Amino acid sequence: MAESPVLVRLENAKKSFGDTPVLKDISLEVAQGEVLAIIGPSGGGKSTLLRCCTLLETLDAGSLSYGDIEVARDNGAGRSVYGGKDVLGRARQRFGLVFQNFNLFPHYTVIRNITDAPISVQKRPKDEVMAQARELLVKMGLEDREDAVPGELSGGQQQRVAIARALCLNPDVLFFDEPTSALDPELTQGVLKVIRSLADEHMTMVIVTHEMSFARDVADRVVFMDGGVIVEEGPAQRVIDDPREERTRAFLQGMG
Ligand code: ADP
Ligand code: MG
Repeated sequence: MAESPVLVRLENAKKSFGDTPVLKDISLEVAQGEVLAIIGPSGGGKSTLLRCCTLLETLDAGSLSYGDIEVARDNGAGRSVYGGKDVLGRARQRFGLVFQNFNLFPHYTVIRNITDAPISVQKRPKDEVMAQARELLVKMGLEDREDAVPGELSGGQQQRVAIARALCLNPDVLFFDEPTSALDPELTQGVLKVIRSLADEHMTMVIVTHEMSFARDVADRVVFMDGGVIVEEGPAQRVIDDPREERTRAFLQGMG
């Protein structure tokens, strides 16, 4: 079987805040259809990594590309040089991002939260976008809530709206930053179920999570990050059931 194409390629990424290095030479590739879980202790740089991949932060050094779109290249002297506005705009079409705290527009209805960007930013026909949004709401188990505003929904429902909103932009890859860590355990399950169904449909996803059994069962590959470096990575079940590095082992024991 042919290898799946690489959708995201990050090479030798470095990022500091002030004098504090937060990403120390990180390289990561995400192949089409792959589900990658990123685990590790708080402060290890997971969110910064996701924010650099989704252009919310800029790299100091290293390169980032989405397929054939070169977002940032290393100038050879240890600095990242970013592409122009058009390049960044095209790259932004390739990915979606789901945050821990949903980040829905509180005054927009559910359906408007989902359809606003596809209509006003992507300039797609309204009928087509509405039809897609309603299909996504069915998938999220929220078909009867399209006229609600976020404040009328549970946290789990809001997160499912945020996932539908990201999907309605037709990204190639979806990034999640601790999508369930603001939720009570009973609401967590509904969100994990939705992500699991996306994995079954071979949606390419990068998921920062503290849900170890979910990562083990749903991810293809797990990356363990600590102190701004990738300490260990490999097939999900191997890393979680049989970690090779002492730091990974200690972290997983603390989670269990
Ligand atoms: P994680 O998501 O793994 O918990 P983060 O990427 O949020 O880790 O943070 C890694 C380190 O970077 C932490 O020490 C954090 O305090 C620091 N950090 C993150 N964002 C900023 C920022 N905008 N300014 C300064 N320091 C930051
Ligand atoms: Mg974080």
